[in-house]
Amino acid sequence: MLVLRTVSELRAWRAGVDRVALVPTMGSLHEGHLELLREGRRRVKIGEGAVVLSIFVNPTQFNDPRDLASYPRDELGDLAKAAGVGVDLAFCPSHAAELYPANASTWIEVEGLDRHLCGASRPGHFRGVCTIVGKLLGLIRPTYAIFGEKDFQQLAIVRRMHRDLLFEGEILGCPIVREPDGLAMSSRNTRLGAEARVHALAIPRFLAEVRQRFAAGERNTGALLADAESRLNPGHIDYVSLVDAEDLQPVATVERPALVALAVVFGGVRLIDNTVLMPDPSS
Ligand code: AMP
Repeated sequence: MLVLRTVSELRAWRAGVDRVALVPTMGSLHEGHLELLREGRRRVKIGEGAVVLSIFVNPTQFNDPRDLASYPRDELGDLAKAAGVGVDLAFCPSHAAELYPANASTWIEVEGLDRHLCGASRPGHFRGVCTIVGKLLGLIRPTYAIFGEKDFQQLAIVRRMHRDLLFEGEILGCPIVREPDGLAMSSRNTRLGAEARVHALAIPRFLAEVRQRFAAGERNTGALLADAESRLNPGHIDYVSLVDAEDLQPVATVERPALVALAVVFGGVRLIDNTVLMPDPSS
């Protein structure tokens, strides 16, 4: 596996490759990331092109400098894991200045889709995400760029940016990978203390209950999300929302595919998760 650290090396390498599957990450890799990389390998087989992993803790998408400083980093471990699933190239910029030239003042912003959920509670977050993903798409020109549904709003926003800005290739989404006890895998889980780790199971339990209520015929948002505070106790709720799965605007009743999304803080660690509710088209 090749490791490149500069934009100029990356450009020179790209000129000699036909098809590319790209998985952008901030590192501290877990099974969720590895599934995206395996999907890349299925899409671009050995000999057809390359699977590229990018590892970059993107400063512009953090609104809290303490969150950026404490974001887990494990490059050596990441490179070993990536090699294990057949990644051809890891792009690990040596310095943020590789991707943000001095006085960089150009941003990509997708309007509307960022109005609710994480967009509302983390101002500027998706501007940072879109700007870095846009730079990577422009540089690497992937045949496939692969993202997780764990960050459902991010995936929706990246799809819209990709379409609106006429990028080539295809954006692919992959299902959420969970721990055996149901907690969605996240690099941030390593920061959970033992007690908070147990309390955090309230999240998958809550989502399972919402799905059960929905399966039993409940379609009203208020009833589906009722008592969220007590059910997610002792977590501090940032948001618990039910939105249209396509335009991400709140809905009062579920008539089309809808997204239940939440962000809850356990033991000082902000965790996000979601599930999609699909009404039967015949009902
Ligand atoms: P991150 O580096 O954690 O910000 O995420 C890099 C990519 O991995 C994003 O597309 C995430 O949606 C995806 N990802 C993170 N956690 C999971 C998970 N548990 N299951 C599936 N994809 C994930």
